[in-house]
Amino acid sequence: MNADQQQEHTGSYYAATANERTNYPRLAGAVSADVCVVGAGFTGVSAALTLAERGYSVAVVEANRVGWGASGRNGGQVINGFAGHDKMAKKYGAGVEETLEAIRWRGHELIRDRVSKYSIDCDLKDGFAEVALKARQFRILEEYFEEREKAGFPHRYELWDRDKTCEMFGTDFYHGAFVCYRDGHVHPLNLCLGEARAARGLGVQIFEQSPVTHIEHGARPRVVTANGYIEADSVILAGNAYSKLEPKHLKNLVFPASSYIIATEPLPVELAQEINRDDVAVCDVNEVVDYWRLSADKRMLYGGACNYSGQEPRSIESYIRPRMLEVYPQLADVKIEFEWSGKIGIVLNRTLTVGRTGKNVYYCQGYSGHGVSASHVMGEILADAVTGTMERFDLFAGLKHIRTPGPRWLGNQLVALGMLFYRLKDKL
Ligand SMILES: Cc1cc2nc3c(=O)[nH]c(=O)nc-3n(C[C@H](O)[C@H](O)[C@H](O)COP(=O)(O)OP(=O)(O)OC[C@H]3O[C@@H](n4cnc5c(N)ncnc54)[C@H](O)[C@@H]3O)c2cc1C
Repeated sequence: MNADQQQEHTGSYYAATANERTNYPRLAGAVSADVCVVGAGFTGVSAALTLAERGYSVAVVEANRVGWGASGRNGGQVINGFAGHDKMAKKYGAGVEETLEAIRWRGHELIRDRVSKYSIDCDLKDGFAEVALKARQFRILEEYFEEREKAGFPHRYELWDRDKTCEMFGTDFYHGAFVCYRDGHVHPLNLCLGEARAARGLGVQIFEQSPVTHIEHGARPRVVTANGYIEADSVILAGNAYSKLEPKHLKNLVFPASSYIIATEPLPVELAQEINRDDVAVCDVNEVVDYWRLSADKRMLYGGACNYSGQEPRSIESYIRPRMLEVYPQLADVKIEFEWSGKIGIVLNRTLTVGRTGKNVYYCQGYSGHGVSASHVMGEILADAVTGTMERFDLFAGLKHIRTPGPRWLGNQLVALGMLFYRLKDKL
């Protein structure tokens, strides 16, 4: 990892409204623990908290700050499911249906339980709407609704036709919505910081500004940084799109793609009410999505325009604002106060990559932009695995993945090409 990756938080709305500025020590000298976790995003913190709750000694080592990566700068949409559910259902058949269905929602349970148990102040709210951008996409939403009906889904969900969608969102841009109130939205950085604080309270050692340079494998692997190391029975790698560790095993499995978000100034109460009556998170059903929600102080947080090629736009605002104004021309005079980007971990077959790089070094990466809830359950699944309960881990680890040949930039260009196909499909 380069020195330039030891950074403070990005200039996001979340960093500006964070409940705390963490200042955990840098790793220096030798530390010993049952489990060492690399990366303090949702995956790493969730694994650490699960293990600490079970009585294990844990050390977390983070290159930058807790929640610095995607976990502290995402759209905050708490959406059920995980990348690759369909492929796993197909591969394993009816025998695992219930397990996969439970995994699909488990992240939500973990988030809600922890918010309540550790009194985490993170603006958690119920409600997430998937919206159709074309009349033909309404059929997709109808199918979601029918699936839930068939399953006897015991939580609130609704299908909104075009008129109702226009009324609820103050725009005629959308052709309908499927709304699930078991999903929701959250201030992700405050959630991550609160979970890390809870873990610290249970004795987890956290080190910040300490990029791991490499792992020395062995009966008790060593996780090495510039000024120290952690020795542990097991290691969990949770660096997702930002990690370059273990290239022999993990290079060219996950490709970083940028997604961009802008935050407006707080909207007048009537305008906020007009554009989102029920204060739900919103995401379209395209392959390459736009997503938005209102913050607790009623700013519009609008994100999207994923960039797979590695070339960053000169101005995020001028890239994203026109997209927002297409949906909401009434925001034309509203000031943009924050803009930022973050890296999504894309996997070619859009399925989480989970496994081991050695007997006792475990990893999970590649949420493909769908990880706020999923990273919570995957943290738990990694914690299970290092303590010997392998059932759920093995389901993921049994999947095959494609590694592109050559350097990473070439892989990124291949992903960009693939996504161009999906973008064109979205447009048609
Ligand atoms: C802009 C954006 C919007 C998104 N919106 C949504 C959304 O609305 N809903 C949703 O479900 N998902 C969303 N996602 C995806 C979601 O945020 C991620 O899937 C999830 O946060 C991944 O968590 P993680 O802990 O695995 O990785 P991260 O949060 O990226 O954490 C990885 C951490 O590992 C650290 N690290 C890496 N390498 C090393 C090393 N060598 N040594 C030490 N530390 C290291 C990094 O510094 C980083 O802090 C979005 C992502 C982005 C970027």
